Amino acid sequence: MTTTPARLTVLAGPTAVGKGTVSADLRARYPRVWLSVSATTRPPRPGEVDGVHYHFVSPEKFDAMIEDGELLEWAVVHGRNRYGTPRGPVEERLAAGEPALLEIDLQGARQVRATMPEARFVFLAPPSWEELERRLVGRGTEDAAERQRRLATARVELAAESEFDHVIVNDDVHRATDELIQVMGLPTR
Ligand code: 5GP
Repeated sequence: MTTTPARLTVLAGPTAVGKGTVSADLRARYPRVWLSVSATTRPPRPGEVDGVHYHFVSPEKFDAMIEDGELLEWAVVHGRNRYGTPRGPVEERLAAGEPALLEIDLQGARQVRATMPEARFVFLAPPSWEELERRLVGRGTEDAAERQRRLATARVELAAESEFDHVIVNDDVHRATDELIQVMGLPTR
């Protein structure tokens, strides 16, 4: 199958489905694909590095970024913290003709769809609801209350799967990445 190369790809999907793992696998195989670094008001988890995993900003700084039109999209995710995509770096990559990937939530994907309908919208889905719960508990980075909030968001996100151009089931990371590579129209080697 040959697919026209995508310039901007939006990868969405519920909590703990493995978006980060799949995009890391993709980037290990295609370093040319640029992954946007989001701004967030969430505090860093152990091991997360400012400017690498996220730009960790204060609520005031986030307000200023919105005010100054610096965000391509933003949303309150899991009813708590704000997350947004800095506009400038994305526009630079697209202007340079380099493939760019956004790993964002459903609300953000909808905003990008409204402003950049030519982007390719991909939904990463879990093999089953039970497996999603298992992965969320297994990674052990959230307490029980936060897990409940994330699962509530996940139910809403899963119901919106049909809004996306492509649905990839993350049953196996390497296989899911292979499918994403095809969907993005990256050259297979
Ligand atoms: P986490 O707190 O686990 O790093 O991320 C929580 C959720 O925020 C994930 O589902 C992720 O897709 C979403 N997210 C991360 N960055 C952005 C962003 O820039 N915009 C939006 N709308 N969602 C984001």
